[in-house]
Amino acid sequence: MSADRTPGFNTLAIHAGAQPDPATGARVTPIYQTTSFVFDDVDHAAALFNLETFGNIYTRIMNPTQAVLEERIAALEGGTAALAVASGHAAQLLVFHTLLEPGDEFIAARQLYGGSINQFGYSFQKCGWTVRWADTTDAESFRAAVTPKTKAIFAESIANPGGIITDIEAIAKVAKEAGVPLIVDNTLATPYLLRPKEYGADIIVHSLTKFLGGHGNSIGGVIVDCGTFDWLASGRYPTLSQPTQSYHGITLAETFGNFAFAIAARVLALRDLGPAISPFNAFLILTGIETLPLRMQRHCDNALAVAEWLSKHERVAWVNYAGLPGNAYHALAKRYCPTGAGGVFTFGLKAGYEAGVKLVGNVKLFSHLANIGDTRSLIIHPASTTHRQLSDENRARAGAGPDVVRLSIGLEDVGDIIADLDQALAAG
Ligand code: PLP
Repeated sequence: MSADRTPGFNTLAIHAGAQPDPATGARVTPIYQTTSFVFDDVDHAAALFNLETFGNIYTRIMNPTQAVLEERIAALEGGTAALAVASGHAAQLLVFHTLLEPGDEFIAARQLYGGSINQFGYSFQKCGWTVRWADTTDAESFRAAVTPKTKAIFAESIANPGGIITDIEAIAKVAKEAGVPLIVDNTLATPYLLRPKEYGADIIVHSLTKFLGGHGNSIGGVIVDCGTFDWLASGRYPTLSQPTQSYHGITLAETFGNFAFAIAARVLALRDLGPAISPFNAFLILTGIETLPLRMQRHCDNALAVAEWLSKHERVAWVNYAGLPGNAYHALAKRYCPTGAGGVFTFGLKAGYEAGVKLVGNVKLFSHLANIGDTRSLIIHPASTTHRQLSDENRARAGAGPDVVRLSIGLEDVGDIIADLDQALAAG
């Protein structure tokens, strides 16, 4: 590649962060299936442990296969650095552990993946962190929730399962005025459709388990540091702006500048809480990312065709796919993700809860399971599965009422996908 050319997204998806293996010449990034790495000598070991030099020590903290994955995702999102971890939930835990102290608050959109609602609303309480809920369709509701204890704002770019497109720029403005970082979960969009940094996000998280890995074979998560938040100027984030006792008093934001957040999440939160991604999973996800642009476009094209077909079906009450003209979020979709509104959407059955349960029992090509972003088409009835732990009110607010069915449209022939839904609806 010529030096004066900036590589495009398709090229980055295949090459960013990777080079032929320096030891063997292997062209594909190898799976460095080792727990630990031999030090050159005692001084080298000391420098690694003091954060005076970068290098591999132990796979919980860093590993060459993981490093390529991290560099690739940072490049695709336009961030300064990234940290790959064991799951999307682990990514969220490490982000908040790095930002918050006991007694702090953060604001989150209530239109989130059900597991995130549980994580924020219940498990995080044990750490002394309080979530205040806001409405992702109304930036002013975030402003109204800001208190002197607010330390971060969190929203999904495309909300799961509701398919709502978030006005990231409007919420980023609120975050800026409040002097706190905006964290965006970009799992459903992926950087192929939408890059939250371009609209003011400071930190991006993903469940790699979904479209980035893309084949339903590995759990993983990632944190992207956009390098945009000034931790020293803020002074409200002691992990970053005050001397770190476990590294001989260095101040991470001073030493590491615009990638200090990624470093802090790695050398403190990941080191001490421990949810590392396995090198094997990192390898599988890296391989998946090589075809991300091709896959995402097909997911979107198939999803649009299925949504159009469903919206004309007599048993279907409504279809919520932002790619459909006339959808409440169509204008936002055209602005934020003009190439496609993603592969996941919901629709409602006129006959309600029982019809949803029957439909998931009648499909043959679709798999009835709790995941999205596979090559295969997937179906779930959130009210009886992923969102069943929530109260009726919170379920409805999260876009998971009793009649709602969620589809994750795969890469099969679209005629076969539609034929399966057709027979399953007829059988109900
Ligand atoms: N964020 C979103 C939008 C999700 O859909 C999920 C899982 O479904 C997660 C986060 C959590 O990811 P993981 O299952 O990899 O922990």
